[in-house]
Amino acid sequence: MDVTFFGVRGSTPVSGKDYVEFGGSTTSLDIITPQCQIIFDTGSGFRNIKIRDDLPVFIIYSHFHHDHIQGLAFNPSLFASRQDIYVCSALTDKADLRDKLQGYFSGSYFPVDAISALSHLEFIDFAMLNALLPAGHMMASIPLYHPGGASGYRLTAGDRTLCFFQDHEYEPASQVALHEFASYADLVVWDGMFTDAELQSKKGWGHSSVEQGIQFAAETVCKRLAIAHHAPTRTDTDIRTLQAKYENEIVFFAREDMALSI
Ligand SMILES: [Zn+2]
Ligand SMILES: [Zn+2]
Repeated sequence: MDVTFFGVRGSTPVSGKDYVEFGGSTTSLDIITPQCQIIFDTGSGFRNIKIRDDLPVFIIYSHFHHDHIQGLAFNPSLFASRQDIYVCSALTDKADLRDKLQGYFSGSYFPVDAISALSHLEFIDFAMLNALLPAGHMMASIPLYHPGGASGYRLTAGDRTLCFFQDHEYEPASQVALHEFASYADLVVWDGMFTDAELQSKKGWGHSSVEQGIQFAAETVCKRLAIAHHAPTRTDTDIRTLQAKYENEIVFFAREDMALSI
């Protein structure tokens, strides 16, 4: 499983000299296995993902806040693709998912009806996904705690497992199911938008902390945990400071264009 972080910023894209190292694009994660391409969320980082024409392609949404969908209509290789691309979310059914994306990319919000133009997007119910994934691949979902809802995912491909938890407000005492869901994963992508200190005034905003990610990694015995969804105010210097304090052989701070094989 080859994993590339195309966007690791939360809430809004950012740019400028303070964001060169970790990047300013919002959430989009590209996963390539020998049999398929799976993309989690289409934040502004999605613009730079190369849609494969030689593999089945699946786009999976955690939820529909703008930082997780805004890049969909800006990817040239998506428009150029000649094959069906499957699109789904465990948070809603295929008709509602299409309506939400079409509403965002049309009318008062967008100059053309992008979803109608992308007629090769094949919207499917999440319940259909596993029947369409190649043999040896399996996707499971779990509800996350986030205003308006969000879905977490566990992708298994062969003997490797990746968990994608964006966006999520973690409550250690009440989220036993999430521990079981993520146990022994090869990689967990964690919503580390805040620090514990910042979290005190951000209860109910739907995000977790860096420190909670470290605790979660230890408790679930995952092999690697990526801190992502960096706050838009978090500069390269800020993240380097957090890195020096918290990074270890398991936990790391994701940066845009970072690629790893698990
Ligand atoms: Zn977000
Ligand atoms: Zn959100």
